Amino acid sequence: MSINFSEDDKNQDITTTASIPEDAAEGSLRPKTIAEYIGQEKAKGNLEVFIRAAKMRKEPLDHVLLHGPPGLGKTTLAAVIANEMGVNMRITSGPAIEKPGDLVAMLTNLNEGDILFVDEIHRLNRAYEEILYPAMEDFAIDIILGKGPSANSLHLELPHFTLIGATTRSGQLTAPLRDRFGVSLRLELYTPEELTRIVKRSAGILGVEIEPDGAYEIASRSRGTPRIANRMLRRVRDFAQVQARGVITRQVADQALSRLEVDHLGLDSLDRRMLRCIIEFYGGGPVGLETLAATINEEAVTLEDMYEPYLLQMGFLTRTPRGRCVTRKAYEHLGIAYMGQQALELDS
Ligand code: ADP
Repeated sequence: MSINFSEDDKNQDITTTASIPEDAAEGSLRPKTIAEYIGQEKAKGNLEVFIRAAKMRKEPLDHVLLHGPPGLGKTTLAAVIANEMGVNMRITSGPAIEKPGDLVAMLTNLNEGDILFVDEIHRLNRAYEEILYPAMEDFAIDIILGKGPSANSLHLELPHFTLIGATTRSGQLTAPLRDRFGVSLRLELYTPEELTRIVKRSAGILGVEIEPDGAYEIASRSRGTPRIANRMLRRVRDFAQVQARGVITRQVADQALSRLEVDHLGLDSLDRRMLRCIIEFYGGGPVGLETLAATINEEAVTLEDMYEPYLLQMGFLTRTPRGRCVTRKAYEHLGIAYMGQQALELDS
């Protein structure tokens, strides 16, 4: 069963946590130091200690695993670590490593103390993962050259480097790989207050005039995610230029985001579609993720990585062993009467 809902999804990309082409200018907005990196106090506090200790011992930092939903600042934090340690960072990603030679080349090109950042490390081919084990543990790799009886093994020493792995799904990492990270940090969704600071900072860099209420309006609608906050800021700026002589007020932000179909809690049409589907077709749940995804014509991973974290955090959705359930709060937000498992629609 697959349903076409009437709501228009054309503006959905404003709220995607994935990086899209219009985010190309993100680089200029990235904080460079721990002091500039807003929020994530727990992760930052721990990191500061580890960085200071490593510097005192004059050793590279232990390998770091950063996990959490997309757009929360994993790549940014890795670059901040490199900057604070005063070392270079090389960047690759799990899917970009197509053959073992790619990984060996990356490793052998590192200099002492360098950071190797592997984004989406859970998507690294399992067979190549084994190259990383001795590289991470003993800073060495063994390469087999040739085949059969004439094969030779070559032992290569590597410089002492730090691997920083980023993943949206730490559960998909194999235990041997996970165990080799000395530091594991989870990034959390940001509070509206933290995002307000991020929006104000970005507006300053972009040279956009913004009122405090305007910044808060954008922050509270950006699903706890700096990437979305920055993107909304750029879009709202366009509206402000045309309608309010360039100043982002609360009213301009509200009008712009409402036009882009982002409601006052940051839900977009796909969030609403997902919640409505659970209510209208599955009596409020529980419904399995795959079934739900098939019903609304989306990929299960998209729902799980990009939509659920915010809906769970907002208390609109719960996860149970039997599947996803919509909460009373979600019924109220959508204006649907809550009658236990049986829902009646009020306003359609
Ligand atoms: P991830 O790697 O987790 O997908 P990124 O590191 O690419 O996320 O962050 C996306 C954007 O959000 C960056 O361009 C950066 O400008 C902004 N950002 C992320 N975290 C912060 C933060 N703590 N403070 C300020 N800006 C941030």
